[in-house]
Amino acid sequence: MNSRRRAVSCLLLAACAASVASASEVAWPTSLAARAGLRPEDYLQPTVSGRPESAVFGMVREEGRRFHEGVDIRPSAHDSAGEALDLVLAAMDGEVAYANAAVNGPYGRYVVLTHRNAELPVYTLYAHLATLAPGAKVGLFVSRGTTLGRMGRSSAGATPITPDRAHLHFEVGLVLSKGFPRWYAAQPDNRGSRNLHGLFNGQNLIGMDPMPLLTQSRVDLLALHRSQPVAVTVALRASQIPDFVRRHPMLVHGEPSGAAGWYVEFSWQGMPLSWKALEAGHPQLPPGRWKLLEIDPRRREQLIHRQMLAADGRSPGDLLRQNVEILLTPPH
Ligand SMILES: [Zn+2]
Repeated sequence: MNSRRRAVSCLLLAACAASVASASEVAWPTSLAARAGLRPEDYLQPTVSGRPESAVFGMVREEGRRFHEGVDIRPSAHDSAGEALDLVLAAMDGEVAYANAAVNGPYGRYVVLTHRNAELPVYTLYAHLATLAPGAKVGLFVSRGTTLGRMGRSSAGATPITPDRAHLHFEVGLVLSKGFPRWYAAQPDNRGSRNLHGLFNGQNLIGMDPMPLLTQSRVDLLALHRSQPVAVTVALRASQIPDFVRRHPMLVHGEPSGAAGWYVEFSWQGMPLSWKALEAGHPQLPPGRWKLLEIDPRRREQLIHRQMLAADGRSPGDLLRQNVEILLTPPH
């Protein structure tokens, strides 16, 4: 199609607007004034260690042994009792997918937005809130900058968050599977503990580095996702098209219908990167349900700490097993 005809059909088809958009507009997720001129040390909230790097995404805690899945942003204002006054705001246009007003898990009170119209349908997550705003209701569409709640320190984690460490835990990433509640219910370890958060349980959310959303006002989320290096590859068999594949066609190579399985690339933190359809009889198809194929040897230690690999550095770790099994669980 020539460019003039394409322009004309785009006038007719609103969908073209989404297909030609190359970046999402992003707003700073707290009421701290503009990002211009802010240095990371101006807004990062470190752990009790006081180390600024403990506030960012990665294996940044306990000497590289513990993962932090988001960025922690500190308050800019406090009330007379020392509690945070900052508002927490939607970073991008999206829909409220989950709003948890109870303090019943490590995220405390939290809100999850989904961004279906972004280049990649990511979620953003806002945790440890003091209160939820009336606009934080599941199903409501919010524009960037909409108030979701007030910054706080709510958490039912092992270590309470003290007033001097109140912060927003800000995350961006992808939902692994709509089959998660079924996977959760089938785990023997979960007997007696109910899944309180449906699809938005942290085990079903896999984050990527949110820093570009804090340092840029426009972000191409698909390019950001694609910039993550491959750390391990897996081949798996699937008689149905995995839910993740259906929801992320932009990450898929080959023809999903009729595929007997998939060659999947994962990042070091367990994010599924790209999926290649494997036909029946393809030599990479595993004899069983799934198989770990390749490992980036430069990342072996990081992968062991993240439990993507077992302590031997060769076999799958608990997190890789868990993510693959969640991805293989169909919604129905
Ligand atoms: Zn955090």
